[in-house]
Amino acid sequence: MREVFFVLNEVRQLRESRMKGPVDYDRQCGVINNKGLPSSRSLACEAHTKGVKRGVEGRSRNYDELLLEWWIPTLWSL
Ligand SMILES: [Zn+2]
Repeated sequence: MREVFFVLNEVRQLRESRMKGPVDYDRQCGVINNKGLPSSRSLACEAHTKGVKRGVEGRSRNYDELLLEWWIPTLWSL
């Protein structure tokens, strides 16, 4: 019985952590899509304009800086 509680608690924590941060705004687009959820596409996503992505709240720095950083590993791997 104890094990059951333990597992249930873990499931709950996992669900809560997902609810808290479904999107990493420093690495993902985050623009609210037609489902009312923040887009989980990459920062460089082509579905939304830069202007819209700049307006997304929750990023630790401005969009242009983060986009530049997002590109660095991609450029290195070329
Ligand atoms: Zn997008």
